[in-house]
Amino acid sequence: MSQLRRLDDLIIALEELPKGGWQVEGAVLALDDLPEGITLAAPVELAVEVRAARGGQFRVGGHVKATLTAPCDSCLDPFTFEVEEDFDRLVAIGEESGFFPQVEAGEEGIPIDDLPDLFLLDGQLKLTELAREEVLVAIPPLLRCSSECQGLCPYCALNRNLESCACAEGERRKDSPFAGLAEMLEAKKRGR
Ligand SMILES: [Zn+2]
Ligand SMILES: [Zn+2]
Repeated sequence: MSQLRRLDDLIIALEELPKGGWQVEGAVLALDDLPEGITLAAPVELAVEVRAARGGQFRVGGHVKATLTAPCDSCLDPFTFEVEEDFDRLVAIGEESGFFPQVEAGEEGIPIDDLPDLFLLDGQLKLTELAREEVLVAIPPLLRCSSECQGLCPYCALNRNLESCACAEGERRKDSPFAGLAEMLEAKKRGR
């Protein structure tokens, strides 16, 4: 990582873009305002290519890779995971400023590729903000430390990955979606 160029303070002035476009690859060491509980475990690797597009707009494409630490949504234990994503945004310089979710083709049938999804008031593309936005997009909605995570016991909140508890064995069975089936099988076994 140490040989990667640091991009944190880099700002691309889109209106001064060279004819052949512009490319950079490097690392972003810090991201502001990540969702609560989520932190960077390593510098973000970012590759960006900027090209002029039709109608005075710009295409900003590239790749982002980040290693994050977050609490598991199921057992609440912090764990480290990697996110990685290609991105391709159409950027417009306008009165607005900010990132917008890509929308489906509208009623007029404007293809999604022709609608800008990033507006920059002053034409200044800050790579830290771009990296942050693309990392946010790449974070899955449900964070689980493993596909086998057992989560917390709903009765005593014990982490079931680490210990097992005997609480409410019966109650748990009653709550199970298979409870009816289990009762039926047991009744059968008893010969009713
Ligand atoms: Zn977990
Ligand atoms: Zn329990």
